[in-house]
Amino acid sequence: MSRFPKNLLIIQAHPDDAEAWSAGTLALMAERGWKITIATMTAGGMGSFAMNERDAVRVRQEEATAAAAELGADYYCFNRRDGYLFDGEAIRIEVVTLIRRVKAGVVITHPPFDYHNDHRITHDIVDAATMVSSLPNVPSDEDPLPCTPVFYHEMPMNLTDFLGNPVPEPHFFIDISGSPLEKKMEMLTHHKSQQDLMRQMMGMEDFFGEMKVFNAELGKMIGVEHAECYWQHLGGGFPREPVIQDELAEFVRHRK
Ligand SMILES: [Zn+2]
Repeated sequence: MSRFPKNLLIIQAHPDDAEAWSAGTLALMAERGWKITIATMTAGGMGSFAMNERDAVRVRQEEATAAAAELGADYYCFNRRDGYLFDGEAIRIEVVTLIRRVKAGVVITHPPFDYHNDHRITHDIVDAATMVSSLPNVPSDEDPLPCTPVFYHEMPMNLTDFLGNPVPEPHFFIDISGSPLEKKMEMLTHHKSQQDLMRQMMGMEDFFGEMKVFNAELGKMIGVEHAECYWQHLGGGFPREPVIQDELAEFVRHRK
């Protein structure tokens, strides 16, 4: 039996990030009996033209909760302000506490080279918090984990960094063709406010459809219909066991 409990915690900057970047993989893990928790640093209060910040926060948390429910997952918000996310002692301790409360065996967050400032700061906070989640001197109300979770980074938009340069080769891709992609699209559909926002802000007529196109581009790289991709944090400080790769072995692909 693995020393990593089958609890997967994905921590993102905004509601809809987990759905956009990782939902196909989350669906596959949920099918295999993993308990999924989706957390966001902010409720995405800036993400609306039609609503004020307070209403956007309320609506987007409702959307995120409904999307998570599609997986039987819980949704948790750290209630930081969208666009004004800062690293600091208090938020790191709150993240440690959540990691411990859900008894995470796997933690996923944004990559350190992501295009979005909130995503990069989320990465920094989650990286630091996950690394100390088993250490007894962290001032958290929850007991330390018996072992540090394995730590993964999901894909950034367009597979480019904040300068537009190509990112390092993903460690692995996950084939999400068929039902995992359908589940992902169902989850995204709950984020209706973002479809409206992207139309007005980016001129994207169909934001959800664009995500599907991106998954198809990734799929083409490995010869399947739709894919997501990941990096595992292997540079030190975290366990190196390939937990997701083993659990989803039949869906793991690499670029030739
Ligand atoms: Zn985001």
